[in-house]
Amino acid sequence: MSALSLAASVRSGERSARGIVEEHLAAIADGEGEIHAFNLVTTDAALERADRVDAVVAQGGDPGPLAGVPVALKDNMCTRGVPTTCGSLILDGWRPPYDATVVERLDAAGAVIIGKTNMDEFAMGSSTENSAFGPTLNPRDTTRVPGGSSGGSAAAVAAGFTPLSLGSDTGGSIRQPAALCGVVGVKPTYGAVSRYGLVAFASSLDQIGPFARNVADAALLLEAVAGHDPLDSTSIPVSAPDLLGVLDRGVEGLRVGIIEEISGSGPTGLEGFAPDVQSRLAEAAEALAAAGAVVEKASVPSTVFGLSAYYVIAPAEASSNLARFDGVRFGLRVDAENTVDMNAATRTAGFGDEVKRRIMLGTYALSAGYYDAYYGKSQKVRTLIVEDFARAYQSFDLLLSPTAPTTAFPIGEKVDDPMLMYLNDVCTIPSNLAGHPAMSVPFGVGDDGLPVGVQVLAPANGEPSMFRAAAVLEAAAGGSAGSRHDS
Ligand code: GLN
Repeated sequence: MSALSLAASVRSGERSARGIVEEHLAAIADGEGEIHAFNLVTTDAALERADRVDAVVAQGGDPGPLAGVPVALKDNMCTRGVPTTCGSLILDGWRPPYDATVVERLDAAGAVIIGKTNMDEFAMGSSTENSAFGPTLNPRDTTRVPGGSSGGSAAAVAAGFTPLSLGSDTGGSIRQPAALCGVVGVKPTYGAVSRYGLVAFASSLDQIGPFARNVADAALLLEAVAGHDPLDSTSIPVSAPDLLGVLDRGVEGLRVGIIEEISGSGPTGLEGFAPDVQSRLAEAAEALAAAGAVVEKASVPSTVFGLSAYYVIAPAEASSNLARFDGVRFGLRVDAENTVDMNAATRTAGFGDEVKRRIMLGTYALSAGYYDAYYGKSQKVRTLIVEDFARAYQSFDLLLSPTAPTTAFPIGEKVDDPMLMYLNDVCTIPSNLAGHPAMSVPFGVGDDGLPVGVQVLAPANGEPSMFRAAAVLEAAAGGSAGSRHDS
């Protein structure tokens, strides 16, 4: 059942929130041992919360648009008194003293938080194999990765453990796992969803966004968590967009451009795109054209440099953000003779290999003498990407690309080759660098029978038309992405 219909049934008194939550807890008890989508299932708190939602209905009140709907949170969102690990040993034992703004908004909307999902350590990765707590498996094929870094949130939705979850996306961490698990994943406009209480990876790129089994449910969740928040200085002064209200407007007359450089075509395009992924993209473009959109090739030339710029900017910001994990204020402490040795021992024991790699890369890129050559240059590339997008959006309302170059890859295949792993994000990174919204919509399967995602990109605050195109793609692909999981 969709989140929309679950909420409607609770609001009307037809179903109890407790019943819905118990059903999902049973699904988790059944499949979680194999999938490992969660770092923590908050069973008791979820049941108590469900009872409070039911009490509101019993008293004639309306709990809100997400009444009784289970939502899972990526484990980098602060939950008061509830462990928040970021998939890292360094936060061992830490319980945040406050709730993230998204948690408060979910509460106000009547949702029931059901647990914290597994992730690549500090959101660094594309496969969820960098979690200190072991990998998450892809529910569509448990020999494959679910993508990352929000792999647990994607897998939880794909496996039917929860209808909705939240992830964070710094370079693709919502969209790529959504594509690999066959669900909908949205990275909103930078500043559209508050980052207050999201443990920072790269602050100028991080955004929270929804996972769902269909486009309407993703719209429902984004509407509930978006909107200005004075507690986040980068929050944009805009209220949550109306998405559900525009979903059925179609794409008649919208101009859609297929970005050649990141879809494996054109003379200057990147290579490495699987032919089956390219075929699904071509079919998606045809579906939009059949629905009345004007679809053409588009060029956003500097997107090919996005990956290189990102892997300087993101580690640079991370090296600064992660300096706070020093054994003094949060979680783990490994004692030593003096403070400096204690800091080093704690960080040596607490951080995994990929996090250490990023901290070293970032520290190097920011060091005196190299700053201009690396960080400064990357910021210039970022500006070029922003300008190229601005130019493209003079001719187009929306842009299109694959979400990821391939379907889900085997567990273990890329762990020892960081460069190969980083290449997963070539299509998703440009939107983070530009601060633009983009979403992944399931569109058929590859030759291996695994899901393919198509990415719809829009200019800042272009979520309404982005969702309209997503709804058309979903209908063309055969309805709700998760229909085979719906009961
Ligand atoms: N996979 C990318 C990285 O490792 C993006 C991660 C993210 O979006 N959090 O940095």
